[in-house]
Amino acid sequence: MYTAPFRYLRPNTLAEAQALFRDSSDARYIAGGQTLIPTMKQRLAAPSELIDIGRIASLAFIRREGANLIIGAGTRHADVAASGDVRGAIPALASLARQIGDPAVRHRGTLGGSIANNDPAADYPAGVLGLGATVRTTNRSIAADEFFIGMFATALEPGEIVTEIVFPVPRRAGYAKFPNPASRYATVGVFVAAFANLVRVAVTGAAPCVFRIPEMEAALAKNFSPDSIANIATSPDGLNTDLFASAEYRAHLVGIMAKRAIEAAML
Ligand SMILES: Cc1cc2nc3c(=O)[nH]c(=O)nc-3n(C[C@H](O)[C@H](O)[C@H](O)COP(=O)(O)OP(=O)(O)OC[C@H]3O[C@@H](n4cnc5c(N)ncnc54)[C@H](O)[C@@H]3O)c2cc1C
Repeated sequence: MYTAPFRYLRPNTLAEAQALFRDSSDARYIAGGQTLIPTMKQRLAAPSELIDIGRIASLAFIRREGANLIIGAGTRHADVAASGDVRGAIPALASLARQIGDPAVRHRGTLGGSIANNDPAADYPAGVLGLGATVRTTNRSIAADEFFIGMFATALEPGEIVTEIVFPVPRRAGYAKFPNPASRYATVGVFVAAFANLVRVAVTGAAPCVFRIPEMEAALAKNFSPDSIANIATSPDGLNTDLFASAEYRAHLVGIMAKRAIEAAML
């Protein structure tokens, strides 16, 4: 399928991009295009203008700043996976990026595009929520707990651009996913991060939106071991059922992936 006709615009700065957005009634930003272009080809979206923010150089960087790792929204998944800074500070995040899609997707897709899209089965939302990261935009800073608000829905306002994500460096972290064998999207993926005084557990793929499991977090804060969560069952209520997995199967996978994520964090 071909997309509906559109005008392609390539700003050099964020200010220029936002001005172009304001001047249009129907524009969309495009970064890696790995979600937006297929959506346009299926005619599920038909913006009259595409504003390409994927070439704004200031959006692509990885840097360590004290207790944080900061990654620009335009950074490609392959660059996160290969980064010595990411592998050194948060190896679980590099591992997450390495598990996304295939090489073509990883070399085009961006961190900002992934979280702005907030696909229920995307990997990065689990890492961003699990690490308690802060999403910085052209307008403000948004805590991960406030950012992901529903299926394909975020706290972003129209025209607002994600610029960078600030990840607090944990003591240890792990990510495990049960991938869809075709797309590699998460049937269920669990990210676990342990900090000095708290543990966070975030689940993607299982429900319409990424979510945390406070009961597992409390148990792991007392004793960071797979045994601690052995008796914590996840209810299938509200979980996704589709062609690939029932809600009951996904509920079962949450426990299995959580244990594997904890084991990965303990390596
Ligand atoms: C075959 C295939 C397999 C895939 N497998 C996986 C997988 O296993 N795991 C996974 O997590 N993902 C997977 N993906 C999705 C991929 O990771 C994309 O990178 C991601 O969904 C979107 O990133 P993008 O840069 O391509 O965004 P785009 O497609 O360019 O944009 C997506 C949306 O985000 C908006 N947007 C983009 N950047 C910003 C920004 N900085 N600020 C505000 N809004 C912005 C756009 O306007 C658009 O609405 C797969 C995709 C394909 C095609």
